[in-house]
Amino acid sequence: MALPKEWVSIEVKELEDLPCLRYAEKPDRRSSWRLLKERVVEAGICSHCGTCTICPVDLIILEDRPLDFDPKKGCMGCGVCVAVCPRYNYSPLSGIGDYIEAVAGKSKRFVGQDGAMVSEFMATALEMKEIDVALFVARDEMFRPYVVHVRSAEELYDTRITGTKYSFAPVMPELHRIIKRFDKIGFIGTPCMISGLRKLQKKVPLYEKRVRLAVGLFCTENFYWHQLYDFLKSRGADLKNAVKTDITKGNFIVTFKDGSEFVIPVKEMEPIVPEGCHVCQDFSAVEADVSVGSVGSDPGFSTVLIRKENAKKIFDYMVEKGYVETGKAKIKVVQRLCDYKVKIHPYPPKEEKSQE
Ligand SMILES: Cc1cc2nc3c(=O)[nH]c(=O)nc-3n(C[C@H](O)[C@H](O)[C@H](O)COP(=O)(O)OP(=O)(O)OC[C@H]3O[C@@H](n4cnc5c(N)ncnc54)[C@H](O)[C@@H]3O)c2cc1C
Ligand code: SF4
Ligand code: SF4
Ligand code: SF4
Repeated sequence: MALPKEWVSIEVKELEDLPCLRYAEKPDRRSSWRLLKERVVEAGICSHCGTCTICPVDLIILEDRPLDFDPKKGCMGCGVCVAVCPRYNYSPLSGIGDYIEAVAGKSKRFVGQDGAMVSEFMATALEMKEIDVALFVARDEMFRPYVVHVRSAEELYDTRITGTKYSFAPVMPELHRIIKRFDKIGFIGTPCMISGLRKLQKKVPLYEKRVRLAVGLFCTENFYWHQLYDFLKSRGADLKNAVKTDITKGNFIVTFKDGSEFVIPVKEMEPIVPEGCHVCQDFSAVEADVSVGSVGSDPGFSTVLIRKENAKKIFDYMVEKGYVETGKAKIKVVQRLCDYKVKIHPYPPKEEKSQE
């Protein structure tokens, strides 16, 4: 169902004084958040991207569990939450997408999940003054994700800030919080978060103006932190003692402080994969400025798909400065993973066969 036009006036006006939504000219008191609840969350397709937390009255609750709502907050009926949700009227993106250049890359400065190219992109963008701040997902002592502001390359020597956390992270709420504080922001996210960002940028020009670099991460699935923690603990692996988590060749691997490893087939983790991931077909973050992942490169390298000119400019600068080592990316392998994700996540989902 299309969103009634009169609900959202932000398409034509700049929300300069967010979160105060005085631009909703025809507020609809029927509470449009109910549409999100029924058609996205209860329909089992919410990606937990957090874009809807732009809500000016904080009615939408994004915690380490499925999205929730607090109607006591008093909905203004502005309709923004529905307007920016990438899963409302969902039409899945897929494939490898357009790109200017594909390379395998390894940063000579940072230690990351793979080749630390995500960190290198943000560090170089900060050095070039293309951005003032980058939002990174760090981890606490229990491997719980939290968002940090990175303002200089030196901060990225901390390996708790670099590296993959296989849990939903509240990057979007933090973006909403800082959008008026910084002129030039770097954003990193899973494909669903990049889709949320793009929809937001279309609806609210302030985000279009201020988010200057969007780095997308390849992604097959994610987890709620507490479910991941409990699941691994029940199998004998305590994330409290972990220094790295990785998904490689169908296995989830936890590396501990003492160098030992715990390995479990990802298939066994199927029961804790959130339902919103089951309808997701975007592996390569097709809407990002640059997409980075593990598959398609040798160990220690990241696969980098440079999609937009802003990212190309940053990449050329890091090569010129000698910050990175580059090689050939195996695009066919990336393509295979893109196809695989479409195959395992049909949308609309296939009907379960009746027992009768
Ligand atoms: C949930 C998830 C699933 C993934 N699945 C795949 C996959 O199936 N195949 C594949 O090839 N690659 C996958 N990746 C990407 C891969 O794990 C690496 O992140 C990527 O190769 C970049 O490595 P790097 O060394 O260049 O990044 P780094 O320089 O180490 O930087 C990575 C940065 O990503 C950010 N980040 C970490 N966790 C999250 C998170 N949960 N949400 C948002 N941002 C985060 C952090 O800010 C971190 O510093 C996945 C990533 C995530 C977060
Ligand atoms: S953004 Fe908040 S106030 Fe506006 S419709 Fe949604 S729930 Fe209501
Ligand atoms: S998909 Fe994202 S924007 Fe939509 S309801 Fe879920 S968290 Fe909110
Ligand atoms: S599979 Fe990845 S991109 Fe898709 S909804 Fe889950 S976390 Fe988001």
